[in-house]
Amino acid sequence: MRIIEKAKNITLVGLGPMGTSIAKAFLGGGYEVTIWNRTASKTVDLVKLGAKGTQTIQEAVTANSLILLSLTDYNAMFQVLNPVKDKLKKRVLVNLSSDTPEKARKAARWAVDNGAIFLAGGIMADPLMIGRIEAYVFYSGENAIYNKYKPFLDVLGKGIYLGTDPGLALLYYQAQLNILFTSAAGIMQALALIHSANLSAKEFEPYLNETLNTLPYFFQTTVAEVDKGRYDGTMNNMVMMAAGMDHISQASLDAGIDTRLPNAVREIFKQTVTAGFGKNGLNSIMEVLKKPKIK
Ligand code: NDP
Repeated sequence: MRIIEKAKNITLVGLGPMGTSIAKAFLGGGYEVTIWNRTASKTVDLVKLGAKGTQTIQEAVTANSLILLSLTDYNAMFQVLNPVKDKLKKRVLVNLSSDTPEKARKAARWAVDNGAIFLAGGIMADPLMIGRIEAYVFYSGENAIYNKYKPFLDVLGKGIYLGTDPGLALLYYQAQLNILFTSAAGIMQALALIHSANLSAKEFEPYLNETLNTLPYFFQTTVAEVDKGRYDGTMNNMVMMAAGMDHISQASLDAGIDTRLPNAVREIFKQTVTAGFGKNGLNSIMEVLKKPKIK
């Protein structure tokens, strides 16, 4: 498919903290950036920096062939673009918003139905990291389109292309976010325990950092074990760790803090033992997580 072409021009839809940072990165790179946001006031500062503000979404999408979206979720994309779907022919939509892999696949089909091309993106950076060396972005969708627009997209951070299935970028993104969010919850549970004893998080900080720094050691065999489906429990087996999880739940209960998080993990550990993995290691909880019907 031939694409409407204008060099160094992009349209950006959505100006939350992430969209605003994306706009600044492209403006800083010398690109012409056309912007639209539901709440128009968020365009003001960017227009002062050189962005082209638009009054309507139609004006924004018809300005350029490359349209980046940074919205809360994919439903927002459908709400914003449905009224102008007849203007999307031959345009490239790159949705950098969070959602599920299935939503990305649905969006790709919707784009094709409307004569557009779709790439899904999952940004692995916070807004302040955009454009910096640490930032990277997962992409999936049509390979040739990704390659063509890679020089534009790399303004945001290192692009990692995962394949033609549009869902892949969000599969990797959600897998990564799962690590981040559940770890954050685990750290907060630990700090709530510390606070319950009238101690400051600061006093605990050296040991928190110790644990964080030791994670690569603890998880060095995880990937191989999970792929082989064999989980060594020689040094620490699931029966012992299920008892340990009980202690964390009970300590939280005794401390008068919320027990939902340790109780949920305790349940998974118990199920793993019940499923016959008592002598296996911690990674054997995989056997429960991938088949939640095991009781
Ligand atoms: P926000 O939720 O703060 O901003 C979302 C944007 O979506 C705003 O421009 C908002 O418009 C718009 N929006 C939401 N719903 C609608 C709707 N129904 N119709 C029109 N516009 C809508 O998100 P962020 O900017 O923080 O993030 C954007 C995306 O990037 C999200 O999907 C997020 O998960 C992802 N992301 C964010 C990171 C971060 O650290 N912030 C890190 C990595 C990814 P309005 O201004 O009018 O409310």
